[in-house]
Amino acid sequence: MRLLVLSDLHANLTALEASLEAAKGSWERVVCLGDVVGYGPDPNEVSTRIRELGAATIRGNHDKAVADLMSTEDFNPVAKMAVNWTRAQLSNENMDWLAALPQGPLEAEGVVLVHGAFQDEDEYVFTPSQALEGLLDSSLPITFYGHTHHQGGFAYQDSQLEVLQVHPRENEMRCALRVEDQKRYLLNPGSVGQPRDSDPRASFAIADREHQVVEFWRVPYDIEKVQERMRNARLPEPLAHRLSLGR
Ligand code: ZN
Repeated sequence: MRLLVLSDLHANLTALEASLEAAKGSWERVVCLGDVVGYGPDPNEVSTRIRELGAATIRGNHDKAVADLMSTEDFNPVAKMAVNWTRAQLSNENMDWLAALPQGPLEAEGVVLVHGAFQDEDEYVFTPSQALEGLLDSSLPITFYGHTHHQGGFAYQDSQLEVLQVHPRENEMRCALRVEDQKRYLLNPGSVGQPRDSDPRASFAIADREHQVVEFWRVPYDIEKVQERMRNARLPEPLAHRLSLGR
């Protein structure tokens, strides 16, 4: 079974559609690591699309904030503005769906899903020491996480922790990681809708369980089209600008 792993879509429908088009026919099931909404111009369209795909989905911090399940005190002013804008746009149906999303860790399709760190959905995992907890404590060998918007990951075996380099090159769309039976993995598919690892292309992963491979993908999309919708919606300019930078 090939599993499409999406994270941090951030209401960017153009990036989501480009990703689904690129991966068309090469997956059977889909999971989502949260932050379906927040920042981007298409919160209803992206929520509806994820629901249609039947993706096992956990909540992210932006989903929580929009659904009023956490305070936006720690959000920067720009993120806070986007939360308020998103609340005003969302249909009741999509708002109810967001509010009911489960918290990670969640076992789904043979892997574990978390939004941020294993023990705290709002914490970031950037360093090996931050990754260790998830590598050791997760109930299954492969755990997917998001939140940082950085594609990458960690592997663990016999007290050795390895930082994985899995970014596709500029002229390539994917990079394959061979999964070894003895190792445990904490893997980040990157962000579909707002990448921050200096590559502006939409980012996701496909886990091929049968062949023991995880593919990390990067797909170009029409960034200007999204920026135009953001400007028309009067979303904060820095949010539009950062999409071109991939930061
Ligand atoms: Zn996010």
